[in-house]
Amino acid sequence: MVAESGGNREGAVQHGGPGDAGGAPPSRDGALSRARAAMDGGGFRDRLAALIAIPSTSQEPARAPELDRYLRDGLGPWLEALGFTATVHPGAGEGAGPILTAERIEDPARPTALLYGHGDTVAGLDADWSEGLAPWTLTERDGRWYGRGTADNKGQHVLNLAALEAVIAERGGRLGFNLKLVVETSEERGSLGLRPFVAAHAAALAADVLIASDGPRVSPERPTIATGTRGTFHFDLAVRLRPGGVHSGHWGGLIPDPAIVLAHAVAAICDRRGRVRVPGWQPRGGRVPDSVREALRGCVVAAGDGLAPDPDWGEPGLSDAEKVFGWNGFIVLAQTAGKPAAPVNAVAPEAVAHCQIRYTADSDPEGFEAALRAHLDAEGFPEVRIENARVRMAASRTDPSHPWVLWARDSVQRSLGERVQVIPNASGGLPGDVFVDHLGVPLVWVPHSYNGCGQHGPDEHALPAILREGIAAFAGLWWDLGEPGTPPR
Ligand SMILES: [Zn+2]
Repeated sequence: MVAESGGNREGAVQHGGPGDAGGAPPSRDGALSRARAAMDGGGFRDRLAALIAIPSTSQEPARAPELDRYLRDGLGPWLEALGFTATVHPGAGEGAGPILTAERIEDPARPTALLYGHGDTVAGLDADWSEGLAPWTLTERDGRWYGRGTADNKGQHVLNLAALEAVIAERGGRLGFNLKLVVETSEERGSLGLRPFVAAHAAALAADVLIASDGPRVSPERPTIATGTRGTFHFDLAVRLRPGGVHSGHWGGLIPDPAIVLAHAVAAICDRRGRVRVPGWQPRGGRVPDSVREALRGCVVAAGDGLAPDPDWGEPGLSDAEKVFGWNGFIVLAQTAGKPAAPVNAVAPEAVAHCQIRYTADSDPEGFEAALRAHLDAEGFPEVRIENARVRMAASRTDPSHPWVLWARDSVQRSLGERVQVIPNASGGLPGDVFVDHLGVPLVWVPHSYNGCGQHGPDEHALPAILREGIAAFAGLWWDLGEPGTPPR
């Protein structure tokens, strides 16, 4: 494909001088053109393909060395070429993956942004991908880019750095602001070790704002800014009645069946239509706060790719957007009794369900376990045990009307010529709480993916149309950070 204007712009944007080949002064439009050219000329795709080829999953211990390789050999040389000083730190604590920090400081009087990303992915699940697709090879098919990490999260943080490259080139090697970068490699294991690391390096990581990307837009065509994330609370429900299985002919119908008791307990937690019944599990006051409701007014949730919200599932009276961004969801991640792969004629000795609550910053996760215990007792399930209950990722939220959020919204709208949907938190989880707690930064997440992207399953992919908008949006954000008009410090 051809670059939009000027001459020699495809791909290797770093070779350009300031402004375009005709000697025009550096400009915002010039930066956006360079960014789009990196997308259209294949430069970004090639760079991403090389990084996807590093099988840096944090969910297979044997691949742990690939996490370090991703940071050191994958990102390191590029960051140095972009003028960053980069360091790879060992993981903070048992089992935590390495963390890369980098900075490019031009003038402490100018704003400092913090960019976050994660270089680890979930497991490849190689056997489950469609014919001709594989997790560690970027494959273009039917207008999509397939590969593990194309959406979560390599495709997103690499895109933001490619946009930065375009801005540096347009400004002739200058940035006009300061940028710090954190790339962790344990996000898919709950950002293990990130909190103590950020706490210990808080002074070095100090910034005015976190601007980063992960997760989906609210719909494929709607540019989105999320100012926080929902949290995740995990627990097991266990019905353990006997040391071993007993003959289903002699005992079935005579003694309680753990699988059936557990099924009823789950039904007592959440009804036939997905309405959560546990008092105390809802956002405070049992309602979506007015500010959240206001922010979500008119917000459409759509995935494409054959998935769509079911109007008959979830809390009655809420819009789709309120259900997934303003409310708390209960999900059974796995549920077993006996041996599903090899059933025997026995009443199983025990049944276990691994469960999750996705909750907003308006909730009280410290009270979730006690609320569930009280509910199960009141519903007649004293034998159902709650085990391993804990917050895995905390919820976070920056006020959607924070000056940095409005500044970013206006910048992206200017770059794309489209309305940006601001949501008070993303539906998924991210470690934004760590940066809020230890650095006090407002959160501006600008996602480059969509709900149908297949992340965490086979056939993960990115949509080039969203990436092309995303690289332009970030070129605009990086450009505007170097101009007057940023929020007061
Ligand atoms: Zn993920």
